[in-house]
Amino acid sequence: MMAIEDFYAGTPIEESAPGRVNLLGEHTDYNDGFVLPIAIPQRTHVSVARSKDERFHVYSSNLDESADFALDDELPEGYARYVAGCVKVLMEKGIAVPPLALSVHSDVPMGSGLSSSAALEVAVLRALRRLLNLQIDDVRIALDAQTAEIRYAGVQCGVMDQMASSLADVEHMLFLDTRSLERRLLPFPKGAELIVIDSGVARTLAGSKYNERFAECREAARLLGVPSLREVTDVAKLGALPSLLEKRARHVVTENARVLQAVAGVDARAFGELMNASHASLRYDYEVSITALDTLCDLLREQPGVYGARLTGAGFGGACIALCEAGRAADIAAAVVSHYNRDKLLQLATVLLPTQGAKKAEDLERAELEAVMPPA
Ligand code: ADP
Ligand code: MG
Repeated sequence: MMAIEDFYAGTPIEESAPGRVNLLGEHTDYNDGFVLPIAIPQRTHVSVARSKDERFHVYSSNLDESADFALDDELPEGYARYVAGCVKVLMEKGIAVPPLALSVHSDVPMGSGLSSSAALEVAVLRALRRLLNLQIDDVRIALDAQTAEIRYAGVQCGVMDQMASSLADVEHMLFLDTRSLERRLLPFPKGAELIVIDSGVARTLAGSKYNERFAECREAARLLGVPSLREVTDVAKLGALPSLLEKRARHVVTENARVLQAVAGVDARAFGELMNASHASLRYDYEVSITALDTLCDLLREQPGVYGARLTGAGFGGACIALCEAGRAADIAAAVVSHYNRDKLLQLATVLLPTQGAKKAEDLERAELEAVMPPA
């Protein structure tokens, strides 16, 4: 079998994009609301060159999987669809994309809620921008990446993941109004550090209730006579809804308020309390948490030095985050994960470390305990 390098016509161009965690503002993006993600140090790297033949060739070292396809026949299955989707979106805008040879390697954990999918899309589009000399800015890249994920990967995602991957950095939170795309980079809370722990429970978006929540929010907005739940700021207005939709809408309305409160400038302690409240809302009103995430968040909150904890990402598995006193993240994460893993036999939780320098995520033992994101 030929290696991907054998298909490169010329020296490949390399680009990359980071994963992200969302600090506050969960399930608000598809309701035109506010989000507050930050980039993580882990990145997805893409190398791309024109293909030596008439077909597209894609390789992911993470999956050790190759795919080849011509875009006039059927789209490829699996991860290659994310790549093909990005190419298709450009083509639909009249951009001529020649057959490509493209290789992916990433240290963003896949399917853990850290947005490996957006990192892949944004890295692909950045690489294509350079290879083909396209005049598209970072916001355009985020929007095209989102279109690729919705149209070709079949995930009804909001724009947060792609905007975070395309615009955020590891030292600043990205405050994003998903309706106007107005945005601001804000410093991470002073004296605080972030812990990211993977619950070990796989989360497949297609199998999850994501699309159901999306539809419930649409329906709640329709019944309230507003274009989106973003328009509602007073929870008292939600009393007119059937009780299930009232709960769903209450999460969105209060979550937007929490983001605005955080953005108005709060200390680490208050920020942590907003995270705790966010988790409770996701658990009881939005019903997207699971026992593993609740348990991990409870364990985190019991640790001295922790300001707050919540699940991050869509829920139904994946990761949770905690804000803690700077300098204590590694020890806290280690204590929580070993406690959790001692008591739970089904899934192993892992600390998702930033791979700064030599160490790669795949070199780690499952339960190896390492830290966290650097303080701002
Ligand atoms: P998340 O974005 O939270 O990691 P998703 O389910 O949205 O989870 O996206 C994960 C999917 O994205 C993977 O199943 C795979 O299809 C694709 N993907 C992301 N990164 C890579 C990679 N480095 N190599 C191959 N596929 C990838
Ligand atoms: Mg994703």
